Amino acid sequence: MNYKKLVLKSGRERSLLNRHPWVFSGAVKTLPEAQNGDIVEVRTNHNELLGFGFFAPNSQIVCRVFEFTDSYIKIDENFWFKKMQNAFLLRKRLLNFEQTNCYRLLHAEGDFIPGIIVDIYNQVAVVQLLIKGMERISTQLFAGLNQLGFTHIYLKTKQSTQLLEQVEQESKWVGEAQAMPIRVLENGVPFEVNVETGQKTGFFLDQRDNRQIVGNWAAGRKVLNTFSYSGGFSLYALQAGARLVHSVDSSKEAIALCNANVSLLKNANVHESFTQDCFEFLIASETGFYDIIILDPPAFAKNARAVPNATRGYKNLNALGFQKIKPGGLILTFSCSQHIDKELFRKIVFGAAAESRRNVRILQQLSQPQDHPINIFHPEGEYLKGLLLQVD
Ligand code: SAH
Repeated sequence: MNYKKLVLKSGRERSLLNRHPWVFSGAVKTLPEAQNGDIVEVRTNHNELLGFGFFAPNSQIVCRVFEFTDSYIKIDENFWFKKMQNAFLLRKRLLNFEQTNCYRLLHAEGDFIPGIIVDIYNQVAVVQLLIKGMERISTQLFAGLNQLGFTHIYLKTKQSTQLLEQVEQESKWVGEAQAMPIRVLENGVPFEVNVETGQKTGFFLDQRDNRQIVGNWAAGRKVLNTFSYSGGFSLYALQAGARLVHSVDSSKEAIALCNANVSLLKNANVHESFTQDCFEFLIASETGFYDIIILDPPAFAKNARAVPNATRGYKNLNALGFQKIKPGGLILTFSCSQHIDKELFRKIVFGAAAESRRNVRILQQLSQPQDHPINIFHPEGEYLKGLLLQVD
């Protein structure tokens, strides 16, 4: 099979030689005569083949490379299946499916398959296609998912600035629908997930390891879970035998999900939920009441321009945490803004800590779990950062 050629300007091949999968429009000398979503060859100014990618003429990222190679390869259903199978084998090694049957199967660039996210909830695969190229091969992808044993597939539209191209999809079941909600386990903790109406693909799978940390510390403690969504952190705290757990979210749908999940546990009676703004809740809360406070807000910086405002938002939020936490207590603080990197986030938290005039220690740096792998050549994939702090 012959593909159209995308030729780079002289000297602009460096990042691709370093296996960064994105080709920016400014680096291109000759655009291929190809359609949105076509597979193209990426070549240097000297006509050396660098790899194959999906073309996207109207995006700033005109091509996303899915295979770096200097020789021809066969890109067919089996090629895509191999990538998916590799991803599945990794998850099989990472997770005990008896204890955890919800996880990320495909993490785009992190699994060397840009433009697609697949999250698994038991037998259901929730697929988000972020680029036209992925949409074009979706039948092959769905066949691969079936082959891996996922009997139900839900195609979910992603509403986010990460969607760099217009993909014309509506959320829908591919084949047979599955009744909602789906009952899953995460580290042995039960949750109900509605993939059709829930945020993201239905659940925030990227907090699994950090929830376990809360589980490890929560016995006998008073826990405040801000931005709780469906109660991820709250259920771990309850299951661990917390004395009291408060969940706060401004969305009443989120709080309804949270309450439903909490009711799956025996000690739901020590839990209380609040449909309220988390800043207001924190301001009004009693100083020194909580032993553990979780601060997991949505991405405050959706793009680079929003960084200054977002910085203030994170600073204020963390300052409230430091002000309110009981002496000797713990704060787990997070940012999932791609545009706020680890160093900046730490500086922001430092600023808030300094204002509190209390001693603060980092017990652990937190990140996304191993089923959200970070391609070392694509640092943009490291989006979740957090700190486990002890406050004197
Ligand atoms: N920690 C959660 C995920 C948080 S997602 C988990 O582990 O699943 C962020 C949540 O913050 C969303 O549910 C959203 O409804 C809520 N939210 C956004 N702004 C808020 C605000 N100002 N006050 C309270 N909740 C807010």
